[in-house]
Amino acid sequence: MTPASASSRAEEPEPRPAPLDWAARLSGRMGRVKASEIRELLKLLDQPDILSFAGGIPDPALFPAEEIGAAVQRQLADPALAGQALQYTVSEGLPALRRWIVERMGRWGAPCTEANVLITAGSQQALDLIGKLLISPGDAVLVDRPTYLGALQAFNAYEPAYLDREEVEAGAAPALGYVVPDYANPTGASLTLAEREALLDLAEARDFVLVEDAAYRELRFEGEARPPLLALDIARAGSIEAARTLLCGTFSKTLAPALRIGWICGPAAAIEKLVLLKQGCDLHVSTLNQLAACEAVQEGYDQHLSRLRLAYRAKGQAMCAALARHMPAGVTWTEPEGGMFVWLTLPEGLDGAELLARGLATERVAFVPGAPFFATGAQPNTIRLSYSLPTEAQIDEGVKRLARLIAGP
Ligand code: PMP
Repeated sequence: MTPASASSRAEEPEPRPAPLDWAARLSGRMGRVKASEIRELLKLLDQPDILSFAGGIPDPALFPAEEIGAAVQRQLADPALAGQALQYTVSEGLPALRRWIVERMGRWGAPCTEANVLITAGSQQALDLIGKLLISPGDAVLVDRPTYLGALQAFNAYEPAYLDREEVEAGAAPALGYVVPDYANPTGASLTLAEREALLDLAEARDFVLVEDAAYRELRFEGEARPPLLALDIARAGSIEAARTLLCGTFSKTLAPALRIGWICGPAAAIEKLVLLKQGCDLHVSTLNQLAACEAVQEGYDQHLSRLRLAYRAKGQAMCAALARHMPAGVTWTEPEGGMFVWLTLPEGLDGAELLARGLATERVAFVPGAPFFATGAQPNTIRLSYSLPTEAQIDEGVKRLARLIAGP
C-alpha cells in the first residue's frame, strides 16, 4: 500500500462491506423455527390495569425462597462444599439428586435405578434432547390437538411432520407420540386410566416411542393421581428396560423454574445416548442449582406440595365458578383436576386472536389465543386461560370482563 493511496483512503473511506444476509445463511432446519406469538404478546402485558390470564407460570408467592436460599448458603459457606458446588459435575446429573428422583419415580409406580435418570435443564431441554435423539427430518410425530406449544418449538428444529390421533389410529406410524397426560398445557385436561391404556395399546400397535410430559403431575387438586404412562408401560413390559416410554419431569412447577432442573426417566439404552447429547449441548445442569434443589426436597417437600395444591385448587375452582357465573351461552370450558389452565371453546366464528386484540383495547383483559397450540388444523375459536397468577377477586373480575367481551357490543 503506497502512502498516496493510504491518504486518499483517509479522505474518502471505502464503503464497508454489506452486512451478512443471515436469513440466507440459515440451515434447512431453521425454516420451521418461528418466534412464539405468545412470547411476543406477553411483552404487551405490563400495563397495571390489564387483568391477565395469559402467563401460565407459577405463582411467585409459592416459591420456597427461604429454603433455596438456606441451601445455597450452606453449600457456599463451607470451603469444601463450595469447591464442589461451584465445580463442573457429571452430565448425568448429581448422584444424590438422581437417587431422590429414583425414589419419587418409585412412588409414582415406575420402579427404576439411577441409570434410568438424566437431569436436564428443565423439561424443555428434555424435549429438545428427545427430539434430537429420535426425530430425523420428515419423521412423523403424534401430538394432541391442541398440544404444548413449547414441545412443538423443540421438535420443529428436527423437521418432523405432525400427525393427529385419528391419522395414527387409521394406520400411520409415527416415530414418537408426545402427550401431557395430567392437567395439560393448554387444556387443563387429563387422560383417564382407560385412555392411558388405549394410548399404550396404540404405541405398541404402531411401534412408536411415547414421550410423557409430566410437568404438572404434582399439582393435582385432590385425591390420587392416575398412574403415569411410564408406570403402566413398565407393568406391561416387565421392567423399565423393556418399556417404550420416556417420562419428562421438572421442578419448575413445584420448586422454581429459575433453577432449570428437570429430568428424563426411561430405559438405560435411551438415557445413555441422551447423556451424550446433553454433554454436547451444555455439559450439565448447574451444580449449585442441583445441590440446592436436592437439599430443598429432602425435608418438608410433601407439605410444600400440599400447600401448592391447595393454592392452585382454590384459584382453579374460583375460575370455574366465575365462568359458570358469567359466561354467555355457547361457551364451553374444561374443568381441570389440577395444574394451571382452563381451555375455552367459543361460539363458532369468534377468533381468539381477534378477541385478544379487542380485549386489550377495550375490557383490559388478556389471555392466550388457542390457534398456536395446534400443529395442524387450528381451531381459532379457542383460548387458554391461566389462573396461576391472579387473585380470586381478580379472577372473578377478569372473567366478568371476558364474558362481556365474548358477548360483544
Ligand atoms: N412441559 C409443559 C407442558 C409445560 O407447560 C412447560 C412449561 N411451560 C414445560 C414442559 C417446560 O418447563 P421447564 O423447562 O421449566 O421444566
